[in-house]
Amino acid sequence: MLLARLRAEVVGVGRRLLQTGLVVGTSGNVSARDPETGYIAISPSGMEYDRIEADDVPVVDGQGRRVEGRRRPSTELPTHLLVYRHRADVGAVVHTHSTYATVLAVLGWSLPPILGEAAAVLGGEVRVAEYATTGTEQLGRYTVEALEGRQAALLRNHGAIAVGRDLREALQAAWVLESTARVYWAARVAGSPLLLPPDEVMRVRQGYLAHYGQRPGGSGPRSVEGVRTSP
Ligand SMILES: [Zn+2]
Repeated sequence: MLLARLRAEVVGVGRRLLQTGLVVGTSGNVSARDPETGYIAISPSGMEYDRIEADDVPVVDGQGRRVEGRRRPSTELPTHLLVYRHRADVGAVVHTHSTYATVLAVLGWSLPPILGEAAAVLGGEVRVAEYATTGTEQLGRYTVEALEGRQAALLRNHGAIAVGRDLREALQAAWVLESTARVYWAARVAGSPLLLPPDEVMRVRQGYLAHYGQRPGGSGPRSVEGVRTSP
């Protein structure tokens, strides 16, 4: 089986999302890009996460053509493809409709840097992407725009997207996004949240990137901030 390990990891992340309540039923989707071939393993359309096995995970090329697998790829494939095309630093994408991130997305509130951990992992203020119909290329373009220099974005009237160099990092970003959105929502309801100063956001972000680059199995420091999206 082509990309057996990566496809098994996509299954594992889907189950973790289900267990931690970030997805319900068949909502959301997960993908990872193989650095050698550039092929993308993406969760199949319309299957519950606890029923998916590795061979249910289709493998597509950078144009979205199916290379292996009998299932149809997630309907959000166009957004995943555009994110990979515009972000060389991204090796995995996690899309959820997690509750508090979606609450902010429905309110049209971006998520400012309020906690050090979130600023480190997400890269600063998490923007809200313009609305476009699910499954369209336009949603992908708006998502790429909102994601610039960040590891997460909110999708207006829809949900959230988190990215990382690998699945582990994308999953972490999805968790941090949801828990911080929950804190922010409660803080906004209760009063006026205090924000971290910009120099502190930069300091914790750089510390995180330096640490992340050195983790075992990593291939050395890589710039996430420095990667710009092309038009
Ligand atoms: Zn969605």
